[in-house]
Amino acid sequence: MNSAVLAIRVLTVAVLLWGGLSACAAETLIYAAKLIDGRAVQPVSNVTLVVAEGKISRIVPGFATPQAGDRVIDLRKYTVVPGLMDMHTHLMSQHSKDSYTEKFFMEDSEYALRSTVYARLTLLAGFTTVRELGDNGVNSVALRRAIREGWIIGPRIYTAGKSLATTGGHADPSNGQKGRFREDPGPLDGVINGPDEARKAVRQRYKDGADLIKLTATGGVLSLAASGQNPQFTNAELQAIVETARDYGMTVAVHAHGAEGMKRAVLAGVDSIEHGTYMTEEIMGLMKERGTFWVPTNMAGEWVAKKAAESGYFPEVVRPKAAAIGSAIRSTFQQAYKAGVRIAFGTDSGVSVHGENAHEFELMVEGGMPPMEAIQSATLQAARLLKIEETLGTLEAGKLADVVAVDGDPLENISAMKKVVFVMKDGQVYREP
Ligand SMILES: [Zn+2]
Repeated sequence: MNSAVLAIRVLTVAVLLWGGLSACAAETLIYAAKLIDGRAVQPVSNVTLVVAEGKISRIVPGFATPQAGDRVIDLRKYTVVPGLMDMHTHLMSQHSKDSYTEKFFMEDSEYALRSTVYARLTLLAGFTTVRELGDNGVNSVALRRAIREGWIIGPRIYTAGKSLATTGGHADPSNGQKGRFREDPGPLDGVINGPDEARKAVRQRYKDGADLIKLTATGGVLSLAASGQNPQFTNAELQAIVETARDYGMTVAVHAHGAEGMKRAVLAGVDSIEHGTYMTEEIMGLMKERGTFWVPTNMAGEWVAKKAAESGYFPEVVRPKAAAIGSAIRSTFQQAYKAGVRIAFGTDSGVSVHGENAHEFELMVEGGMPPMEAIQSATLQAARLLKIEETLGTLEAGKLADVVAVDGDPLENISAMKKVVFVMKDGQVYREP
């Protein structure tokens, strides 16, 4: 038999097998009367999403008649949206008055076990994908595995592992330590000084199993340090991090409140600015030019401002920072949205309460963003930031079946995003009406 004949025979068998398989493979039919696909500017009416083997195999007009063995999920009373994506979470913690001392009393295993509760709440709130932007070590890598393996339920996680900081910087884990508890952490623990240590810290995150890099380019609100906004990395350190991250196929997310550190990071070529509180017009222009994403985390601002007003909640070094920086984000959001900066949805949950992520939509709409764009910031735009637009972020044939339904019409009233009644991730149902 010559090779051409053999090829035809193999092909024939393959076609027969494929035909046979697709005729008997059961599919899930999701009926949607109103569907926001994440890409189109208008919702689509009356369609059936056909899900097979964890993917959306096709979307057909009308409500398709099921074949034997098919499952029908009728979501016609609700609004169907893509699985939501939160680009800024901290699943290892949730802020309380004890947050500053719990590291002295908690084992890694306890952090990991507690995080399973937060992961579950996040998924059931409709967030099927999150970026985990800084834990206390590598617990989030373990959490990601536990979810992938099906040991527990939770969102798909892209984790930065331990955030990078400079000595005394926002994510230096030894801030505030005194006397014989004083430590001097290095690249292993995410603390770097100089480009060589910066490279080592990136490579360490790669070795730890992180997906991306997070660094704290300026001071922050909740750390036990005086400034909430001073620049904390040199240009050379930032460049070393970005270059090394690129070598390992990692993106770079940057915490920044103050303008100088933020500008340095944007110029170094990072992928996203987190918070961005004191973003100037010049920085907005630079970000637009370079396509740098902004993850505003309005919720974190609102939360710290509220807690700053509660006497005795924050340590005295934190309280004034929380009061000033927390409330400033609102006007920045209005300006940066108008200026056309690319915005991806992120909450900083773990500062605020896990599972309440959708409140961010309300704050974005209050800040002048139309509801459809707010939803796209948590779907298509987030997928672009993660560079997974080929597989997630919209409801389109060929993509992974991450599907959420909310009670009400979020285009009329964005608060409907808080009323999640249905959650599917990878074709598996986790929540039903
Ligand atoms: Zn954060």
